Amino acid sequence: MDKKVLRNLSYGVYVVTSIIGDKKVGCIANSAMQVTSNNPTIAVSINHDNYTNKVIKETKKFGLSILKEDSDSKIIGEFGFKSSKDTDKFENVGYEEIDGIPVISDSCGKMICKVIDMMETETHTVFLGEVIEADGYTNDNPMTYKYYHEKLKGTSPKNAPTYEEEKEVKLENNTNKKKWKCRICGYVYEGESVPEDFICPICGQPHTEFYLVED
Ligand code: FE
Repeated sequence: MDKKVLRNLSYGVYVVTSIIGDKKVGCIANSAMQVTSNNPTIAVSINHDNYTNKVIKETKKFGLSILKEDSDSKIIGEFGFKSSKDTDKFENVGYEEIDGIPVISDSCGKMICKVIDMMETETHTVFLGEVIEADGYTNDNPMTYKYYHEKLKGTSPKNAPTYEEEKEVKLENNTNKKKWKCRICGYVYEGESVPEDFICPICGQPHTEFYLVED
């Protein structure tokens, strides 16, 4: 099977959120789609290992924020590469509440869904959510996974449906610069060395988390 074919499906970059008691949770999802328009219903796929998955199963309610191309990439760092279990991912990210669910302000649309069904796969739960509220529309370009990957040089969080283990990193060698890769998110820095004050623009890690990629 040529798994490359799957890369030609379209994926966005979304933040799926929920709340249990006063604990706000959320994670990045790149598989979300509208399945019916009347009543509007969407399907979202969330890895079993994401704490957000457990919370949505309990609360039967979630928010979906659609990231745009110029959304602060730190949002992906906070929500894609940490766990809600032991961190407050909302601490450094602007959010607002709709219908009691926190959603990301720096986005081009937010919706709140009531879970009406779910389906289990080996690794992910597919939640079917009826949209009960939608707000914050802007006509900015929604971020696609392709844009995130090619322009921001980000990689899939481990729990994303599109994640594939990168055993050997092969990068296009179109410059003579050395390439340093963030071990958390895969962002590539080009230069002789990573400056000591460099902070990964995707996940916020310091220079010590970068390793030299051999060509
Ligand atoms: Fe990073």
